[in-house]
Amino acid sequence: MILVLLGPPGSGKGTQAKKLVTLKSWPQLSTGDMLRSAIKQGSKLGLEAKAYMDKGSLVPDAVVVGLIGERILLQDCKTGFILDGFPRTISQAESLDQMLASVHRKVDRAVLFRIEDSELVRRLSGRRTCIKCGSMYHIENALPKSGGVCDQCGSKEIVQRDDDFPEIIEKRLMVYHQQTAPLVEFYKKQAKLRSVEAARLPDQVAQALHACLIG
Ligand code: AMP
Repeated sequence: MILVLLGPPGSGKGTQAKKLVTLKSWPQLSTGDMLRSAIKQGSKLGLEAKAYMDKGSLVPDAVVVGLIGERILLQDCKTGFILDGFPRTISQAESLDQMLASVHRKVDRAVLFRIEDSELVRRLSGRRTCIKCGSMYHIENALPKSGGVCDQCGSKEIVQRDDDFPEIIEKRLMVYHQQTAPLVEFYKKQAKLRSVEAARLPDQVAQALHACLIG
């Protein structure tokens, strides 16, 4: 199955994608993670992308389309994959359809994560991220078990991501409503859209997401 997870930043797409990866054999393709990894490596692409990401803007379509275009051809994507954070514009969605059509494939389903902006601001502003492995924590209810040490990789570098500061969060939400939300209609027209109520506990969202994959 080729699955698109659609929803604003902080709606839990990444968390649910990771849960699905452990259940199914489909990899999680997160353009945000790919770009952060390029930044960490100090590549030219990473440096270019950072300027956009730090402002809360979208990285140009050609950059992310190029990244995804190469990634979906790899062997581990043969039986399916989960797109997390891509596409984010109509133009990206059209490019995705074209790339898939050229290898006789198509998006099977898009699932929208429904959630209020006020809840997203609470989630994102309290979010803390492990620089080393990307594990996420929250200052209100999900701190690492032992002080500032990452539960997953033992790193002590758990920080607030540059784009999780209030002004940037506001910008990212505005960008979502202007540029990404139109994808809801795009996938509705193709009769591929389902949706889940995302302001719930991760296990409850996971259950709803499974139902979307079957029905
Ligand atoms: P995320 O981790 O998915 O919230 O992405 C973090 C940032 O990476 C976004 O705010 C954008 O600047 C950039 N980004 C990630 N995915 C895309 C995409 N599909 N198109 C453009 N920019 C993206």
